[in-house]
Amino acid sequence: MSSYKIAVIRGDGIGPEIVGAAIEVLNKAASMCGISLEYREYLAGGCAIDSCGIPLPIETLEGCKASDAVLLGAVGGPKWDNVEPSRRPERALLGLRSGLGLFSNLRPAIMFRELSSASPLKDPGDVDILIVRELTGGMYFGENGSYESSDILSDGTVKGEVAFDTESYSEGEIRRIVKQAFELAMGRNKKLTLVDKANVLRTSRLWRSVANEIRRDYPEVSLDFLYVDNCTMQLISRPSSFDVIVTSNMFGDIISDEAGEITGSIGMLPSASLGAPGTPGLFEPIHGSAPDIAGTGKANPLATILSAAMMLRWSLGERAAADLIESAVRKAISAGYRTPDIMGNGSGEIHVDTRAMTDAVILMMNK
Ligand code: NAD
Repeated sequence: MSSYKIAVIRGDGIGPEIVGAAIEVLNKAASMCGISLEYREYLAGGCAIDSCGIPLPIETLEGCKASDAVLLGAVGGPKWDNVEPSRRPERALLGLRSGLGLFSNLRPAIMFRELSSASPLKDPGDVDILIVRELTGGMYFGENGSYESSDILSDGTVKGEVAFDTESYSEGEIRRIVKQAFELAMGRNKKLTLVDKANVLRTSRLWRSVANEIRRDYPEVSLDFLYVDNCTMQLISRPSSFDVIVTSNMFGDIISDEAGEITGSIGMLPSASLGAPGTPGLFEPIHGSAPDIAGTGKANPLATILSAAMMLRWSLGERAAADLIESAVRKAISAGYRTPDIMGNGSGEIHVDTRAMTDAVILMMNK
């Protein structure tokens, strides 16, 4: 029997509720697929500040490094809003990403047909996009600063304070993520779109030349290029025509939110952050800690349950167990189960809380 060590970070707000739900579903999948999962709980975020004074205790990072994968709920909340910036709960996420060397962020945007009325689009079609965002380079990590300048602009205005952020990418950083995107495209519809701004940015042109080099190793994958401004429009006008999108840190940050919004509910969207093969990945819903509904039973656990499925697939290589969970979520949605965030007009719907949605998914695993 394959056995895996999972580091569990429940975090703040609805984190403990949704992670608890995901663990119940994982346990069911594990027992059905002959896998053994051993969980170790760690603190991060606001609860870690309360308990140890810092958002990411060293034992949390060390525990995560020593595990096969990390399952995280969400961190943060109003209680810690006035904490000094370097100690805010969200710093734990940055510390985990850099400490675990997580360079790629996988954000699937999947439209469940039954939930299409929640989409802001009239007729989104069958949306199933996987966005692969570079996570540790680009402008968010480049050189930045500010200085005073007495230079005069053409209309006579004094420049005053000047601030700058630098977009910079190395060939190696681009190669590892583009290669991963090709691999992911091979496992799907063999269609990859590189989103960039190559008409303006040198870094984008480097992304294109590296991608053109790597495509030779993947002759079955069709690769196309799209400027990011055009991509934001195409995502609205023809979302179902995309398969895998690979892009830089900042562009990925923006278009993954846009693609997620098309699918209708933040409570349905999972994510994975991966590093080098063989190192633990981090799996978490894309939403935050939703302090407004914490403890009310209104939290939709499906984004976290689907994140757990991604963990089985991408970090543990347990495809059958991942398929089992994803299919059970589809069946629960088809059967009409709805938490408040995904309720529609009511006809044929079974309105449930976090507990009952978790039970519904577990029930569907037997069907
Ligand atoms: P949020 O994602 O927590 O909530 C936005 C809205 O979506 C709220 O109305 C919330 O009730 C709803 N929502 C979110 N998840 C839901 C779910 N599973 N089911 C049903 N409804 C859900 O964003 P926010 O309110 O801007 O942030 C709250 C806190 O979370 C802040 O402290 C923020 O910094 C933190 N945050 C953490 C993460 C993370 O841990 N990865 C990500 C984003 C925000």
